[in-house]
Amino acid sequence: MESLKRALRKSPEKLQLLADLVEVSIDGTRDIFVNRPVDMEHVRYIGFDMDYTLAIYHKQEIEALAFHKTLEKLVSQKGYPEDLLQLEYNAEHIIRGLLVDRHKGNLLKINRFKQVQRVYHGTQELPVSTYYNDRVDQSDAERYASVDTLFSLPEAYLFVLLVDRQDAGLLGEHSYAELYDDIRESIDMTHRDGSLKSAIIADLPRYIYQDPHLSLALDKFIQSGKKLFVLTNSEYYYTEKVMDFLLDSDNLEYTSWRDYFEIIIVNGRKPSFFNGKNPFYLVDETTEADLPLPPGPLEQGKIYSQGNYLALEELIGAQGNEILYVGDHIFGDVLRSDKDSNWQTVLVVEELESELRKTEELRDRQLRMRRLTNKLDKLHYELHMYSSQMNTLQRLEQTEVDFTEPERRALDKTREELNSNLALCRKDIERTEKKIRHLRSEISNYYHPVWGPLFHVEDEMSRFAVQVRGYASLYTSRVSNFFFHPLERYYKSLRDIMPHDRWMELFS
Ligand code: IMP
Ligand code: MG
Repeated sequence: MESLKRALRKSPEKLQLLADLVEVSIDGTRDIFVNRPVDMEHVRYIGFDMDYTLAIYHKQEIEALAFHKTLEKLVSQKGYPEDLLQLEYNAEHIIRGLLVDRHKGNLLKINRFKQVQRVYHGTQELPVSTYYNDRVDQSDAERYASVDTLFSLPEAYLFVLLVDRQDAGLLGEHSYAELYDDIRESIDMTHRDGSLKSAIIADLPRYIYQDPHLSLALDKFIQSGKKLFVLTNSEYYYTEKVMDFLLDSDNLEYTSWRDYFEIIIVNGRKPSFFNGKNPFYLVDETTEADLPLPPGPLEQGKIYSQGNYLALEELIGAQGNEILYVGDHIFGDVLRSDKDSNWQTVLVVEELESELRKTEELRDRQLRMRRLTNKLDKLHYELHMYSSQMNTLQRLEQTEVDFTEPERRALDKTREELNSNLALCRKDIERTEKKIRHLRSEISNYYHPVWGPLFHVEDEMSRFAVQVRGYASLYTSRVSNFFFHPLERYYKSLRDIMPHDRWMELFS
């Protein structure tokens, strides 16, 4: 707790800091979740992505900014009508993990079996049968684009709005794919030509949240002997301003944000950092030019650019699971580092906090749902039993055996009873299914009125959940959550549940 003591000594708002700490430490939404075991003692280096990892953006502000900057490009560079500039951003319309069907102008939420479970064409919901029997081939990049980072939400919403306008005949001759590509190129320009970043830098507090516990978490890692590095795709000028805002005005004894990190890599070009051969460069901080890397080890306080994971491992003398990388992007940060470098990974899923809060608020309805689905399972089991008994009875009756009158009466009585049980059972199933449908849509809407929960679709895991489960070793809502958990912790995964594991539970 050395870092906490030092922070409290220096903090003018000690009471507020203490109150925040106590509140957060009992808040389960800030927990760290384990897919695969991670032995923290074995970890020597911890690397951090910057955007949406160390830097948490204010959702409404950053997304609206990207939305409007992209519209400006669509009008000025791509010849779209000027009245588009009047469109307004709705930050509540899109969630992560959706797929854009470029051919049909649709947005899809799919489950872990790649079956489409929800479809919107523009703002219009379509029946799931639009994709009846289709298993979506996500690797078909010509047809499907993925909404996989928080940076992609504004472009997906823009696509929704432009599809509506296209259908209303307001945009001229464009295929849906062209619309999508024009949006993609325009938003890409806003990221690359500095128009987005200059607006952010001009008003950092408006766009970026200063997490009061971030410096404490980083300091805690350092105090426990871990070496930290930054590996971001952002440019030097932007990284410098954002990191300075996040860490310089903090309450510990570091004189600059650079003091926290042994190595700083900008313009890292992930995901190719994890499978490419780009050499490292030294950044000239005056001209921002990439200079050839001087011989010898990487120096603390200097800024490096590009590079690749193998060269980094060699320079720091650590490899594989001695390195833990924390990022927010499934493909850029987590999937490739897991597949190619064998680094351990932490995925930052900012939405976890609100998803978990809603799950808590839905506790009673979730319990009712569970009781209803258990009841439905039992009813189906009963139906199966009665049907097989009826089958046996019918087969008996078809035999050549001559039954006595009392035997025949007994058979008739059994048949009657079975028929009545079957009818009751079917009725009960129908009633229960109706209740489940009702409750399910109530729960789903509570999570998100358009797309439902982030991690589920109907009773299955969503595509996003499958990716989180499959690629990240750990996941949590923000970096500072590590401050609230003992670092010596061996992050151990929970027992995996198979469908048959529920059997006992069902009949207990
Ligand atoms: P990181 O998350 O710190 O690695 O940084 C992500 C970087 O990618 C930021 O500098 C973003 O501006 C940039 N970025 C995000 N989306 C796009 C895009 O569509 N085109 C170009 N750059 C992007
Ligand atoms: Mg990022």
